Amino acid sequence: MTAAPASTAPLSAAPDALGRFGEFGGTFVPETLVAALADLSEQFESAMGDPEFRRELDGLLSTFVGRPTALYKAGGLTRLAASKSASGKSATIWLKREDLAHTGAHKINNTMGQALLTQRMGKQRVIAETGAGQHGVATATAAAHFGLQCDVYMGSEDVRRQHINVVRMKLLGANVIEVDSGSRTLKDATNEAMRDWMASVESTHYILGSVVGPHPFPRIVRDFQSVIGVESKEQCREAFGREPDCVVACVGGGSNAAGIFHPFIDDAGVELVGVEAGGRGASAGSHAAPLTHGSPGILHGSLSYVLQDDSGQTAPVHSCSAGLDYPGVGPEHAFWKDAGRVSYSSVSDERALDAFVDLCRSEGIIPALETAHAIAEAIERAGRMDESQHVLVNCSGRGDKDVDEADRLLRARGGPAQTIATVVDVPVPR
Ligand SMILES: *Cc1c(COP(=O)(O)O)cnc(C)c1O
Repeated sequence: MTAAPASTAPLSAAPDALGRFGEFGGTFVPETLVAALADLSEQFESAMGDPEFRRELDGLLSTFVGRPTALYKAGGLTRLAASKSASGKSATIWLKREDLAHTGAHKINNTMGQALLTQRMGKQRVIAETGAGQHGVATATAAAHFGLQCDVYMGSEDVRRQHINVVRMKLLGANVIEVDSGSRTLKDATNEAMRDWMASVESTHYILGSVVGPHPFPRIVRDFQSVIGVESKEQCREAFGREPDCVVACVGGGSNAAGIFHPFIDDAGVELVGVEAGGRGASAGSHAAPLTHGSPGILHGSLSYVLQDDSGQTAPVHSCSAGLDYPGVGPEHAFWKDAGRVSYSSVSDERALDAFVDLCRSEGIIPALETAHAIAEAIERAGRMDESQHVLVNCSGRGDKDVDEADRLLRARGGPAQTIATVVDVPVPR
């Protein structure tokens, strides 16, 4: 891949009319979906240009979702980063509290936007894919609000592992369809949702859950999630009078990262860092880090970095966090990576688990395991920066869903209390 995009347009102007972010993105779908995607693209543009649609969405984000979410100065986490750093100092760490949004994560920003769009298009039914169940719950919530019929595809392995989210979806009135093919996880659920949509596109909208899939989905999801970055920018100016020096977010499909990065993308002075799931190590099947270890390929309708074997078969993935456990990533992240605008790193299960406990103990905030990957990176970076600098972290979700898994992992390595004693330099009451 060449390093720079051919055009001189600012990076924020992507995608082009064909849905390409540089050479990534596009629309690699069966003929039956081409017209539907073109129509969706037009409907989305028209909605976003309509002040009435924007007013209605803003109203919902405010009174139903709970926006704006807070920008929080994480003094305890900053002190902890300083205690771990070689200099004994740390930049100030700020958290954008998406964990405080309704249903406990950023995903609701996108599902409310797409459900409102569904209503505008006159469709009565929505479908979605889900892995950990978080996007399924956010979609079922939006569908309940708008009175839409809702079918959620979920791998049978995930149905077993994420039982509580299955119950939540059913309570919200959604129908959960178990997928028994392939690895019985997110990738297979996505295939089935696409198959459903091909047969039902006249009456049904497919609410995709991240900045992936064929054009215009990466654009739509990014724009609905950009509220995170737009609010953050204003809140940072209010709190410390300027842009942050560095913004950190975890990357699964890439929607919470794209949402917080995009409003900063043309601000050259703001360093942007995406954090992938490093899992148990760099060998194939041990991680979920396509930007770190993958290569360009086509998955679920667009060209981006993908974890694949030599014959182009999608590789198995692993992460302690179900929401990062996906072999692909949004095409805009591939574009930002190759343009050198965003740097991407990966954080192992072990480091994420340390950071999970760190945030619990230093701030009284239990983060999602996905989010803990970003927290780990932020602690390390802040410790290498100057005290006068500011690091903004997207606290993408809360960890209620992860407490059993975190407890299991912590016990396996000697118990949570023991872990914290080695991490923080203060005695922990037992
Ligand atoms: C789903 C999820 C993610 C990963 O998805 P992105 O599209 O990469 O944002 C990250 N954090 C939380 C809390 C999630 O629920």
